[in-house]
Parts: sequence; C-alpha cells; structure tokens
Amino acid sequence: MLLNELTIVEAADGLRKKKFSSVELTEACLKRIHERNETLNAFITVADESALLEAKRADKQIQKGVAVHALTGVPFSVKDAICVKDIRSTGAAKILDSYLPPYDATVIEKIRLLGGIMIGKTNCDTFGHGASNENSMYGPVKNPHDETKVAGGSSGGSAASVADHMAVYSIAEDTGGSIRWPASACGIVGFRPSYGRNSRYGIMPMASSLDVVGPMAKTVADIALLMETMAGHDPKDATTVPDAVPAYTKKLKNKPATARLKIGIPKEYLELEGLNKEVKAVSETVITRLKEAGATIIPLSLPHTKYAIPVYYILVPSEDSSNLARLDGIRYGVRADESALYDLYAASRAKGFPDEVKRRIMIGTYALSAGYYDAYYRKAARVRTRIIRDFEEAFREVDAILAPTSPFPAFGLGEKKDDVLAMYLADIFVSPAAVAGIPALSVPVGKTKAGLPVGMQVIGKRLGEEIVLSIGSLLEGICK
Ligand code: GLN
Repeated sequence: MLLNELTIVEAADGLRKKKFSSVELTEACLKRIHERNETLNAFITVADESALLEAKRADKQIQKGVAVHALTGVPFSVKDAICVKDIRSTGAAKILDSYLPPYDATVIEKIRLLGGIMIGKTNCDTFGHGASNENSMYGPVKNPHDETKVAGGSSGGSAASVADHMAVYSIAEDTGGSIRWPASACGIVGFRPSYGRNSRYGIMPMASSLDVVGPMAKTVADIALLMETMAGHDPKDATTVPDAVPAYTKKLKNKPATARLKIGIPKEYLELEGLNKEVKAVSETVITRLKEAGATIIPLSLPHTKYAIPVYYILVPSEDSSNLARLDGIRYGVRADESALYDLYAASRAKGFPDEVKRRIMIGTYALSAGYYDAYYRKAARVRTRIIRDFEEAFREVDAILAPTSPFPAFGLGEKKDDVLAMYLADIFVSPAAVAGIPALSVPVGKTKAGLPVGMQVIGKRLGEEIVLSIGSLLEGICK
C-alpha cells in the first residue's frame, strides 16, 4: 500500500512507530497531486513548499515525542471557501483570485496547532453554490471513479482529493449537502455536524443560518477523530454551542448493541419517483442487512420534507445575497476598469462572479425586498420550523434515520449544467437535514454495476453526533 493511501489512524500509527516520516508521507501525497491534478482538477492551489516545511517541523515533534497527536504530520486538503493563513483562498471565485487570508479559520487553526499538514486548497462550486462543481470559475472537477462524471458538489475537489489519495482527509463546508453528496459520489465518508457544533469563523459565508464545517475522510473512525479536534465553542462564532465536546473516538469503540437500535426509514426518500433503481436496490440491501444484524427497522413519514428544497432555495439565496454584498473587486481579484465607484463595483462583480452566484443574488435580493419578505423569507422560515418538528417527532421513536444520500450516482459532466432546476433537485435528500440543522453522515455502502459509488446517510437528532457516528461505523462494517 502506498503511503498516501493510508487512513489517518493508519498514518498516525506508522508515524509514531517511525515506519516512515511526515516528509515521506507528504511527498507521497504531493506526488499523487502532481500526477493526477491536471486530469481531475481537484486543487486550485497546491502548497508544496509550506507543506514540506510543516512536515519537517512535524517530524521533529514526532522525533522528540512531545505533544504528538494523531493528526500530527498527516496531510490534509481544505475547501477553497475556507480561509488558510497566507495561502491563496479564492472560494473558486475570480473576485477573490488573489486573496491571501491574514488568518486561519478556527477549525483549520485547531488542526494546524496539532501539527496537521495543509497540503492545498480544493476546487468547489464558487462559494459553494452548486451540486456538481461545474459552477467553479476554475473548471469542473472530474470523478476519480469515472472521469466523464462529476465529482458532486459543491465540495467536489475535497471529495476527489481524498478518494484519489491526494490528501489523507479534507475539511469542507456543507450548507445544503456539499459535504455529503460529493462524498457519496466519490465513495468516501462525509459528515455534516449539527449547526453550531463547529465554528464557522473563517469560512466564506454562504447562508449563515445553514453553513456548517465538517470533515471528509476514508473511514468513520477518521471522521470521529477529526470531529473531536474541530468541534467546540468559539468566542469568534456566537452560534457555536457551549456544550462540551464528547469523546467521539472513545464512544465509537463502545458500539451500541445493534439489537437495541431503532432505525427509521422515511418513505419520502425510498419511495421517491425518479429514484435511480440501482441506488434503491443498494439501499434496500443495506436495510435488510441491518435488520439481519438485529436492528429494528421502523418505517416513518416526514410529511414536510418535500418542502425542504423550496425552503432551502428561498433562505439560501436570501442569505447569500446579503453575505456577498461585501465583495466589491477593490482589493483581491478581478477589478474592472471603471473610474466611477459604483460602476467599478458593478462591473467588477459582473466579471468576478459566475452565473449561478448572480442568479442567487438576484433571487435573494428579490425575496428580501420590501413587500416580498413576508411572502418569501418569513414564510420559508416558518416552513423550516415544520421540517424541524417532523424530525423531532421522528427522533422520539427512532435513534436515527437512514436514507440514500442522493437519488442517483454521479451524473455525467455537462448533463445537468444548463438545467438549473434539475441541479437544485439533486439536493433533494441532503437539504432536509441541512434546513433542520441536524447531523448527517454519508457512508459509502455499495456500487452500481458501472462501478460508481453509492452512499447512504445516517441522520440524527440535534447534537446527536455520537449515535450518528456509531451507526455509520456499523454500516461501514456490514457493507464491507
Ligand atoms: N447544492 C447546494 C447549493 O447549491 C449545496 C451547497 C452547499 O452545501 N454548499 O446550494
């Protein structure tokens, strides 16, 4: 096995036992990036030099045996919409083409303080707006399992970087599925924690009431390890919860008795018209295996879940339009050649944003405008509460909900690009948990005949990360 193919747990073990060094591990990842990035387009910026310097430092730390953590010396990638100090962070937007953040996002700072090696910034749909990575101003990402297919979005670069072993894990952002869907499309594990569990400080905001930062990795054990490091209250993000961070890794080892587990299967997902047959078949096999393992399977209904997409596509563009108002083209990226200030802003924004970003600014500005706010934003916020209540009700009866991550496996590049509605509908299974602010984990559970990965989501109650991770790990075991 090549070094870059290791999981975090395996890499940490090898580093601690001095089987290899962090420099060797980092070089293996960089080599893979240089072999593959031209084809896959997973990275916008590769941080060769600083990564190797950090690796040398980590090796010294490991040599001395002081303050060594499982993440020390292990290379990771970061979605380009997350700030990394002094490393170009564009959010895949030309308007920030030359932006060098003067600080690390809190989650990144935490990982780097432990000696994590930041290897590069990954491609994504601009500011996270998309489901196929085709809305990136730096070109689409290709799926490592089939280069004619999308890697999913918006964190397609992060997913491809891990699935193709260019990085051991990745840190990304999920507003409405951007971690889980690309994880599913590329056959890796992706976790959206509860809203407020991880700090959003240093994330380029998309929709502030939904944005969540989370990990993407090869195993659930790696995800638990990362969550333990990333989670917690941050004085710089007032929405972070003050609750103590559970020992996720330890909890994962003490598996709950499968015989006592109650898993809810909402009919709104598996009975969806248009659900791909192979995805349905794989999902049903997983449910059967869970039953055989002793879990109780409980069919249920989430009656308002069908409104998640319409609610999402009112709330998100509204918040998007407000958050994006700060970008003016003055300092960091494309700047139009205009002398009057307003013209300069308008022309720079016209050049620096792709169509999808402009579409959201227009929809959002409209939905928030006087006279329409009550009809759209407020109404959507109310329906959002109904969606939350549906879940709360369900969790009175079940420990977790299981559903496919996506109604289809990775689709062809270009296939939905010009069909905005079809692209929005790709989020049909991932948007409900996002709108509700609850944790959801996508785990690879099988493949189609053509070899494309299929993922399933474990959805849990608010701040119920532990049970979600435990069931994820159970799924991982039964789907091997
Ligand atoms: N596809 C969703 C959107 O375009 C996902 C966004 C996200 O989670 N960042 O809004």
